[in-house]
Amino acid sequence: MCKTLSDATLCPSCAQSIRKAGYAFLFKHRCPVCGNPVLDSSYVCPVCTTGMLAYGPYEKTLASLIRRYKFGGEIALAPLLAGLYLPLLSSLESPLLLPIPCSREGYKRRGFDQMEVITSYLARREGYAQLSLFTKHKGTQYKLLSKEQRSLEHALQLTSSRRKKERFSQFLSDGYTAVLLDDVATTGTTSNQARELLRSCFGCNATIVVLADV
Ligand SMILES: [Zn+2]
Ligand SMILES: [Zn+2]
Repeated sequence: MCKTLSDATLCPSCAQSIRKAGYAFLFKHRCPVCGNPVLDSSYVCPVCTTGMLAYGPYEKTLASLIRRYKFGGEIALAPLLAGLYLPLLSSLESPLLLPIPCSREGYKRRGFDQMEVITSYLARREGYAQLSLFTKHKGTQYKLLSKEQRSLEHALQLTSSRRKKERFSQFLSDGYTAVLLDDVATTGTTSNQARELLRSCFGCNATIVVLADV
Protein backbone atom coordinates (compact mmCIF):
# COMPACT_ATOMS: atom_id res chain seq x y z
CA MET A 1 0.00 0.00 0.00
CA CYS A 2 2.61 2.56 1.07
CA LYS A 3 5.70 0.71 -0.27
CA THR A 4 7.30 0.54 3.17
CA LEU A 5 9.32 -2.65 3.61
CA SER A 6 7.46 -4.92 6.01
CA ASP A 7 7.46 -8.56 7.18
CA ALA A 8 3.71 -8.57 7.72
CA THR A 9 1.12 -8.22 4.94
CA LEU A 10 0.61 -4.61 6.05
CA CYS A 11 3.15 -2.32 7.70
CA PRO A 12 2.17 -1.08 11.20
CA SER A 13 0.90 2.23 9.87
CA CYS A 14 -1.29 0.65 7.17
CA ALA A 15 -2.56 -1.92 9.68
CA GLN A 16 -3.48 0.99 11.93
CA SER A 17 -5.33 2.75 9.13
CA ILE A 18 -7.39 -0.42 8.45
CA ARG A 19 -8.30 -0.56 12.12
CA LYS A 20 -9.35 3.09 12.00
CA ALA A 21 -11.43 2.42 8.85
CA GLY A 22 -13.87 0.23 10.78
CA TYR A 23 -17.21 1.36 12.20
CA ALA A 24 -16.07 -0.09 15.53
CA PHE A 25 -13.44 2.68 15.59
CA LEU A 26 -15.42 5.42 13.80
CA PHE A 27 -18.59 5.14 15.92
CA LYS A 28 -18.41 5.52 19.67
CA HIS A 29 -21.96 4.42 20.47
CA ARG A 30 -23.20 0.85 20.61
CA CYS A 31 -26.67 -0.46 19.81
CA PRO A 32 -28.34 -1.55 23.10
CA VAL A 33 -29.93 -4.54 21.31
CA CYS A 34 -27.16 -6.08 19.19
CA GLY A 35 -24.08 -4.28 20.55
CA ASN A 36 -22.90 -3.17 17.11
CA PRO A 37 -21.50 0.33 16.46
CA VAL A 38 -24.02 3.08 15.75
CA LEU A 39 -23.41 6.72 14.80
CA ASP A 40 -25.15 8.07 17.91
CA SER A 41 -27.75 6.92 20.37
CA SER A 42 -30.65 8.61 18.56
CA TYR A 43 -29.78 6.94 15.28
CA VAL A 44 -31.51 3.68 14.35
CA CYS A 45 -29.18 0.69 14.33
CA PRO A 46 -28.53 -0.41 10.72
CA VAL A 47 -27.88 -4.00 11.78
CA CYS A 48 -31.18 -4.31 13.68
CA THR A 49 -33.19 -2.61 10.92
CA THR A 50 -31.60 -4.01 7.75
CA GLY A 51 -29.93 -7.19 9.01
CA MET A 52 -26.66 -6.15 7.40
CA LEU A 53 -23.34 -5.90 9.15
CA ALA A 54 -20.35 -4.12 7.57
CA TYR A 55 -16.78 -3.66 8.78
CA GLY A 56 -16.55 -0.11 7.49
CA PRO A 57 -17.39 2.30 4.68
CA TYR A 58 -16.02 1.61 1.19
CA GLU A 59 -13.22 4.20 1.28
CA LYS A 60 -9.47 4.66 1.24
CA THR A 61 -7.36 1.80 2.60
CA LEU A 62 -10.28 -0.62 3.00
CA ALA A 63 -11.57 0.01 -0.53
CA SER A 64 -8.09 -0.23 -1.96
CA LEU A 65 -7.43 -3.59 -0.25
CA ILE A 66 -10.73 -4.99 -1.51
CA ARG A 67 -9.98 -3.82 -5.04
CA ARG A 68 -6.50 -5.37 -4.99
CA TYR A 69 -7.95 -8.68 -3.81
CA LYS A 70 -11.02 -8.71 -6.01
CA PHE A 71 -9.82 -7.12 -9.23
CA GLY A 72 -6.06 -7.44 -8.90
CA GLY A 73 -6.31 -11.11 -7.96
CA GLU A 74 -3.96 -10.70 -4.94
CA ILE A 75 -5.01 -13.91 -3.22
CA ALA A 76 -2.36 -13.39 -0.52
CA LEU A 77 -4.67 -10.74 0.98
CA ALA A 78 -7.31 -13.38 1.82
CA PRO A 79 -6.13 -14.08 5.42
CA LEU A 80 -5.96 -10.36 6.21
CA LEU A 81 -9.43 -9.66 4.80
CA ALA A 82 -10.86 -12.80 6.43
CA GLY A 83 -9.65 -11.42 9.77
CA LEU A 84 -11.80 -8.31 9.33
CA TYR A 85 -14.95 -10.47 9.39
CA LEU A 86 -14.08 -11.90 12.82
CA PRO A 87 -15.33 -9.06 15.06
CA LEU A 88 -18.54 -8.94 13.00
CA LEU A 89 -19.15 -12.68 13.21
CA SER A 90 -18.47 -12.75 16.93
CA SER A 91 -21.61 -10.65 17.52
CA LEU A 92 -23.79 -13.39 15.97
CA GLU A 93 -25.17 -16.56 17.54
CA SER A 94 -23.62 -19.71 15.93
CA PRO A 95 -23.02 -18.29 12.46
CA LEU A 96 -23.29 -20.59 9.45
CA LEU A 97 -21.26 -19.01 6.65
CA LEU A 98 -22.87 -19.00 3.22
CA PRO A 99 -20.51 -17.44 0.63
CA ILE A 100 -22.03 -15.43 -2.21
CA PRO A 101 -20.47 -16.84 -5.39
CA CYS A 102 -18.65 -14.48 -7.73
CA SER A 103 -19.63 -13.91 -11.35
CA ARG A 104 -18.26 -16.30 -13.93
CA GLU A 105 -16.40 -13.42 -15.61
CA GLY A 106 -14.78 -12.53 -12.30
CA TYR A 107 -13.76 -16.12 -11.77
CA LYS A 108 -12.20 -16.33 -15.21
CA ARG A 109 -10.28 -13.11 -14.72
CA ARG A 110 -9.08 -13.84 -11.21
CA GLY A 111 -8.82 -17.61 -11.21
CA PHE A 112 -10.49 -17.95 -7.81
CA ASP A 113 -13.80 -17.18 -6.17
CA GLN A 114 -12.99 -14.43 -3.67
CA MET A 115 -15.72 -15.20 -1.12
CA GLU A 116 -15.22 -18.95 -1.37
CA VAL A 117 -11.54 -18.48 -0.49
CA ILE A 118 -12.31 -16.24 2.50
CA THR A 119 -15.06 -18.56 3.74
CA SER A 120 -12.89 -21.68 3.59
CA TYR A 121 -10.14 -19.79 5.40
CA LEU A 122 -12.57 -18.84 8.19
CA ALA A 123 -13.86 -22.41 8.36
CA ARG A 124 -10.40 -23.95 8.43
CA ARG A 125 -8.65 -21.50 10.73
CA GLU A 126 -11.47 -20.32 12.96
CA GLY A 127 -13.74 -23.38 12.92
CA TYR A 128 -16.83 -21.70 11.49
CA ALA A 129 -19.53 -23.85 9.90
CA GLN A 130 -19.90 -23.21 6.18
CA LEU A 131 -22.02 -24.37 3.29
CA SER A 132 -21.88 -23.50 -0.41
CA LEU A 133 -25.59 -23.10 -0.95
CA PHE A 134 -25.61 -20.89 -4.04
CA THR A 135 -24.53 -21.19 -7.62
CA LYS A 136 -24.50 -18.74 -10.47
CA HIS A 137 -26.91 -19.63 -13.20
CA LYS A 138 -25.29 -21.71 -15.90
CA GLY A 139 -26.79 -21.40 -19.33
CA THR A 140 -25.88 -20.96 -22.94
CA GLN A 141 -22.34 -20.11 -23.90
CA TYR A 142 -21.58 -16.72 -22.43
CA LYS A 143 -20.26 -15.00 -25.55
CA LEU A 144 -23.46 -15.78 -27.45
CA LEU A 145 -25.62 -13.86 -25.00
CA SER A 146 -26.96 -10.34 -25.33
CA LYS A 147 -26.33 -7.80 -22.58
CA GLU A 148 -29.75 -8.40 -21.00
CA GLN A 149 -29.31 -12.12 -21.10
CA ARG A 150 -25.93 -11.65 -19.47
CA SER A 151 -27.44 -9.90 -16.50
CA LEU A 152 -29.86 -12.83 -16.16
CA GLU A 153 -26.88 -15.10 -16.46
CA HIS A 154 -25.56 -13.52 -13.25
CA ALA A 155 -28.73 -14.40 -11.41
CA LEU A 156 -28.19 -16.39 -8.29
CA GLN A 157 -29.68 -19.81 -7.75
CA LEU A 158 -29.93 -22.20 -4.86
CA THR A 159 -27.78 -25.27 -5.28
CA SER A 160 -29.49 -28.16 -7.00
CA SER A 161 -27.95 -30.53 -4.46
CA ARG A 162 -30.70 -31.96 -2.25
CA ARG A 163 -28.12 -33.04 0.28
CA LYS A 164 -26.89 -29.46 0.74
CA LYS A 165 -30.43 -28.15 1.12
CA GLU A 166 -31.14 -30.79 3.75
CA ARG A 167 -27.93 -29.90 5.56
CA PHE A 168 -28.99 -26.25 5.53
CA SER A 169 -32.40 -27.10 7.05
CA GLN A 170 -30.61 -29.17 9.68
CA PHE A 171 -28.31 -26.23 10.54
CA LEU A 172 -31.37 -23.98 10.92
CA SER A 173 -33.17 -26.38 13.22
CA ASP A 174 -29.95 -26.72 15.24
CA GLY A 175 -30.15 -22.97 15.92
CA TYR A 176 -27.50 -21.65 13.55
CA THR A 177 -27.74 -18.10 12.15
CA ALA A 178 -27.63 -18.06 8.35
CA VAL A 179 -24.92 -15.55 7.39
CA LEU A 180 -24.51 -14.41 3.80
CA LEU A 181 -20.87 -13.51 3.36
CA ASP A 182 -20.01 -10.94 0.70
CA ASP A 183 -17.33 -8.32 0.08
CA VAL A 184 -19.13 -5.09 -0.75
CA ALA A 185 -22.80 -4.28 -0.24
CA THR A 186 -24.65 -1.91 -2.51
CA THR A 187 -28.40 -1.67 -2.88
CA GLY A 188 -30.00 -4.45 -4.87
CA THR A 189 -26.94 -6.68 -4.77
CA THR A 190 -26.67 -10.41 -4.99
CA SER A 191 -26.64 -10.73 -1.22
CA ASN A 192 -30.15 -9.24 -1.05
CA GLN A 193 -31.23 -11.59 -3.79
CA ALA A 194 -29.79 -14.49 -1.79
CA ARG A 195 -31.62 -13.37 1.33
CA GLU A 196 -34.91 -13.30 -0.61
CA LEU A 197 -34.26 -16.82 -1.89
CA LEU A 198 -33.65 -18.10 1.64
CA ARG A 199 -36.75 -16.31 2.88
CA SER A 200 -39.01 -17.81 0.23
CA CYS A 201 -37.51 -21.33 0.23
CA PHE A 202 -36.70 -21.83 3.91
CA GLY A 203 -38.57 -19.06 5.70
CA CYS A 204 -35.30 -17.94 7.25
CA ASN A 205 -34.11 -14.39 7.80
CA ALA A 206 -30.40 -14.36 6.98
CA THR A 207 -27.90 -11.74 8.16
CA ILE A 208 -25.67 -10.19 5.51
CA VAL A 209 -22.05 -9.65 6.57
CA VAL A 210 -19.76 -7.60 4.32
CA LEU A 211 -16.40 -5.84 4.50
CA ALA A 212 -17.68 -2.54 3.22
CA ASP A 213 -20.92 -0.79 2.46
CA VAL A 214 -21.33 1.96 -0.07
ZN1 LIG B 1 2.13 0.54 4.73
ZN1 LIG C 1 -28.65 -3.23 16.68
